[in-house]
Amino acid sequence: MKQSEIKKSLNESLRDIPVIDTHEHLPGRAEFRDREADILSEYLMHYFSVDLRSSGMSKEDFSKAENPRLPVHERWKLLEPWWENCRLTGYGRALDKSVQILYGVPELNRDTLETVNTQFQKTLSDPGIYSKILKTQCHIEWAVLDEITGHSCQGDNTVFKEVYRFDSFIRPQYDCLNRIEKIIGRKVKSLDDWLEALDTTYQSVFSSDHVIGIKCGLAYERNLFFPDVDRLSAEKAFREMFSQKADPSLWHSPPDFENFMMHYLLGKAQNEGRLMQIHTGILEGNGNTLANCDPMLLNNLFNRYDNIRFDLFHIGYPFQHKLLALVKMYPHVFADMCWTNIISPRASVSFLRDFIDSVPLNKVSAFGGDYLFPDAVPGHLMMAKENVAEALADCVTQGLFDEKRALQMGKRFFYDNPKAIFQI
Ligand SMILES: [Zn+2]
Repeated sequence: MKQSEIKKSLNESLRDIPVIDTHEHLPGRAEFRDREADILSEYLMHYFSVDLRSSGMSKEDFSKAENPRLPVHERWKLLEPWWENCRLTGYGRALDKSVQILYGVPELNRDTLETVNTQFQKTLSDPGIYSKILKTQCHIEWAVLDEITGHSCQGDNTVFKEVYRFDSFIRPQYDCLNRIEKIIGRKVKSLDDWLEALDTTYQSVFSSDHVIGIKCGLAYERNLFFPDVDRLSAEKAFREMFSQKADPSLWHSPPDFENFMMHYLLGKAQNEGRLMQIHTGILEGNGNTLANCDPMLLNNLFNRYDNIRFDLFHIGYPFQHKLLALVKMYPHVFADMCWTNIISPRASVSFLRDFIDSVPLNKVSAFGGDYLFPDAVPGHLMMAKENVAEALADCVTQGLFDEKRALQMGKRFFYDNPKAIFQI
């Protein structure tokens, strides 16, 4: 059989398998969705918007295009040339695949926009939307929620397991102070007070099995190298941070403080054998410091904390070969393809192909939608299955194993592996 036929057959066999979705930013409950949204404001919340801006769409035109208070067809006129530039990127294809699946039209364009928008707006008040899209449509048994819109730990526990961010304890903004003082019930005066706030939060967060791990998104703000810091240096850094308390404009967290706090958190996670998901690789948005996100910068943490299951996001793209080597070396370090399948479908196929040749097959999870809105998840999942089928079909064509084994591996990548890594 030709590779394309094997791919087609594998893809069909993967269509209805159960899936663990390793990473989402969806509103934790259907009622948390923005009822004022329309299809353009929601679909332009992230990812595809970055391609539009990268393509050259001006900030001014983009902000009009995403404004749901302006007529939808007028905004489409502004968007159309840029949309066509970007339609074939992974982000563009994911949206078109989703509208095919959910609304039965071939793509979003000037002819389909208004009908699709009318149907879309009806879903905004549907309390069963997650059940319909995630469970019935996508066969997602659990989605791991990284809640970033202010409703931490309140996610629908029939659909979501959650991870919790301690980033603001490690690299606090000035406005975190009030929150920390509320947690301990008094003014913060010492590093011990700060640690007490983290301890209290940690205990409360992990008091139920709804929260399954820690998420670190600090690569958006600093580099991922966290050297060891002794207690005295951390206290000095804490005093330096607090000496600027009177003037918010001077507030910053010194590296010695941040690094000490990261190791303090990891020490707790190590004792309890927790899961930690870490952002590595490309950053969402149209500007940041990519070199901060190289997964190699985490190497010292993997040596030291061997009882933490480190789940490394986005295959570290474009540093995926370094990530592959790290996952190969360490029994407690895993590759997570969340977001990756739409960042670059081709790189995802190559990564998985390299992975199969070099890393034990229990160490990768194939899918995490990583979306802020539910509509795009089915399109993204469909692309992930196509990518996995393509990598496996290549192996079958080369005679590495047969189609039966390829299908078993595909099922592991989407379900058994993440279930075991996350212990859910
Ligand atoms: Zn994310």
